[in-house]
Amino acid sequence: MEYTISLVGNPNVGKTSLYNRITHSLEHVGNWHGVTVTEVSKKIMFDHNTVNMVDLPGLYSLSVYSPEEGISRDRILDKSSDLIINICEVNNLARNLYLTLQLLELDVPTVLVVNMMDELKKQGKVLNYRKIEKVLKIPIVPMSAKYHSDVHLLMQVALDHIQTHGANTVNLEYLEKLPLDDVVSIIGANAANAGFVPRWAAIKVLENDVFVLEKLNLNELQIKALEAMGDMQARVAQVRYEFIDKITEGAISRSVSDEHHEMHEHTEHNVPIEREGEPEEERDKKDKHARHHDKHKKSERLKMLGFSRIDKIVLNKYLALPIFLLVMALIFVVTFGLVGKFFTWLLELGIDKLIYNPLTKWLVKIKCPAWIVGLVGDGIIHGVGGILVFLPQIVLLFFFLALLEDSGYISRVAFMTDGIFRKIGLSGRSAFTMLMGFGCSATAVLTARGLEDDTMRKKTVLLTPFMSCSARLPVYSTVAAAFFAAGSPFVIFGMYVLGAAVALLLAALFEKCVKPLKSGKLSFIMEMPPYRFPTAERVFQIIWNNAKVFLIRVGTVIFALNVIVWLLSNFSFTAGYTVGKNAKSILELISGWIAPVFKPFGFGNWKAVTSLLSGLVAKEVVISSIESLGGVEAIFTGSHASLSALTFMVFTLLYVPCVATLVAIRKEAGLKWMFFSLGLQIGVAYVVSLLFYGVGLLYYLNKGVFIGCIIVATVAAVCISVFIGRLRGKKACPYCAGGCGTCSKTCKKTNRDKK
Ligand code: GDP
Ligand code: MG
Repeated sequence: MEYTISLVGNPNVGKTSLYNRITHSLEHVGNWHGVTVTEVSKKIMFDHNTVNMVDLPGLYSLSVYSPEEGISRDRILDKSSDLIINICEVNNLARNLYLTLQLLELDVPTVLVVNMMDELKKQGKVLNYRKIEKVLKIPIVPMSAKYHSDVHLLMQVALDHIQTHGANTVNLEYLEKLPLDDVVSIIGANAANAGFVPRWAAIKVLENDVFVLEKLNLNELQIKALEAMGDMQARVAQVRYEFIDKITEGAISRSVSDEHHEMHEHTEHNVPIEREGEPEEERDKKDKHARHHDKHKKSERLKMLGFSRIDKIVLNKYLALPIFLLVMALIFVVTFGLVGKFFTWLLELGIDKLIYNPLTKWLVKIKCPAWIVGLVGDGIIHGVGGILVFLPQIVLLFFFLALLEDSGYISRVAFMTDGIFRKIGLSGRSAFTMLMGFGCSATAVLTARGLEDDTMRKKTVLLTPFMSCSARLPVYSTVAAAFFAAGSPFVIFGMYVLGAAVALLLAALFEKCVKPLKSGKLSFIMEMPPYRFPTAERVFQIIWNNAKVFLIRVGTVIFALNVIVWLLSNFSFTAGYTVGKNAKSILELISGWIAPVFKPFGFGNWKAVTSLLSGLVAKEVVISSIESLGGVEAIFTGSHASLSALTFMVFTLLYVPCVATLVAIRKEAGLKWMFFSLGLQIGVAYVVSLLFYGVGLLYYLNKGVFIGCIIVATVAAVCISVFIGRLRGKKACPYCAGGCGTCSKTCKKTNRDKK
């Protein structure tokens, strides 16, 4: 038989962890919300059955707010799954069961997994899951998906349930407290037409579910009749929570003893479980263990204190940003400093001694034409190898980012940036997408799908490419090492900061000046996941996923591009192979036409242009093109070579990351915004580079004038902001707190009316 089983649950409860365990996959797992933004599926064989496992984005309720939640809602409603495995987190059981009840209301075959039992165990608590099972009448399997769990047992329970599931036997008594019959009498026919079970549609109508209301297509009379019943949305939530409180009351309790759960652990699903109907002697035992519990409580309290202490420092108003910058700077020093460079040097040596030298010698020996030796040696081995040597640095960077992400620190970063982000029409949630941009711009753009607000989503999509992706790293690393030696980690760090700063400035500019991108005030719900200890397995997964993308690119696009660039730069239209001849290569000719555009930056030569052009397809190729065209020293010449090189890095940081990112932007925001983004990236890259080079030149030419200009600019900026502030202060209406500057006539009027 063939079955489809979907994993459904709130965000961050361990759905993907469980999916990876069941299907032996390496999908991205992260200790923050919105990691999975699209449906992922894989077929496995179980007990001679083919099971199509589907991992869905997290959702809190069937009434959804973001497009990614919509994907899950649609999958649940279309009933294409034979079974839903609903995953709840034991520490947030009550809130998680809210979704479970909605699944039961819909009457989809469901098995409940209560995850993160290890965390409960650490707190010295146990779950009496049988109590909940008795009421909900669905199988419940407690587990710890992150660690070794009995997924075999879960699959067995799941398949048994599919095969035996008949009519819904659960009595959701709280539904009787709602006027469902009245609503059914109003919308019954429409519900049937729309293919909904009328009673279920009635619940959704009471919840004001936009999706269902749209599908019902009610007429004015019906709407009026419903409105007459009053707003029932809060009532629905209330009765559900009352029911949840009732079934979960006393379900989690302190364990009798550690030995006790050790015993259960081996007998029952590898989790601590408390049996119902505890005999009297057990109570006596509990007293005996009272002292032990007190000790436990104390350590738990200390642990809690430890958590809040960490957050008190990490999220402190004044310390948060310096700590974040310090952490990132440390990571960069290790990654791009001695440690990273050592591994890169080792790999370089290996490629030269073990591949390049013997192979080119052999090709010469067998009398291959010079151009083939050049193509294989310089175009392919040096070109592709020149990029491959950055693998250690990429691995190191993602090792640290994985630690930060899986521990829950990245969520804190999103949380602390939320305040600043909200002022510029973004939210802490956008920070997730933008931080993902440090990995790969194209994939990061896709994660913006989790953003609830349409404008905010567009804005995040447009800004993410400015975050420095890992493909740009080889460019910085090579250029900075050539011109700034020991200072290169700081120069590279500066590039990352500059990218983020440009993105934030643009966000502020959009919010003020570009009407279609003005988000206004947004409500934003974000939860702070607990600090979790990163496991080696998870860290390895994150590193491997990123390294894999890099290696695949090296083996495909980058390989092909290197061959093309090498051929175009070594052959001419008329003279064939150009080496040793006085003829211009094809690339030299084409890039030579564009080169004057870059004259103001000091690198207006065809070699620099060629490398930038090839970077449009994949940023890594920028550096291999440079290498095959004579290295950085041949491109950045003259008395201000290091300034030119720095400006080149700035331009590389800001112009289009790659064609794949543009395709992703088109997918998420549409063709119009893709072209807008293309223009924006090239425009911003040009203007910022121009400014950068201009200011740098001033510094080189006359330090006194440079410092004078900086002072004048600072004073002017302060004066302008004070002046604007005053103007706004004057405009503020007397009814407001004053000084907000946004008061309009309407505001005065509404306030007066209120008075
Ligand atoms: P999803 O958003 O529901 O797909 O959740 P993920 O699978 O991405 O996991 C979210 C976070 O919870 C990650 O940091 C996981 O390492 C962590 N996690 C998942 N399952 C468990 C578990 O059983 N125990 C603990 N302690 N953490 C878990
Ligand atoms: Mg997930």
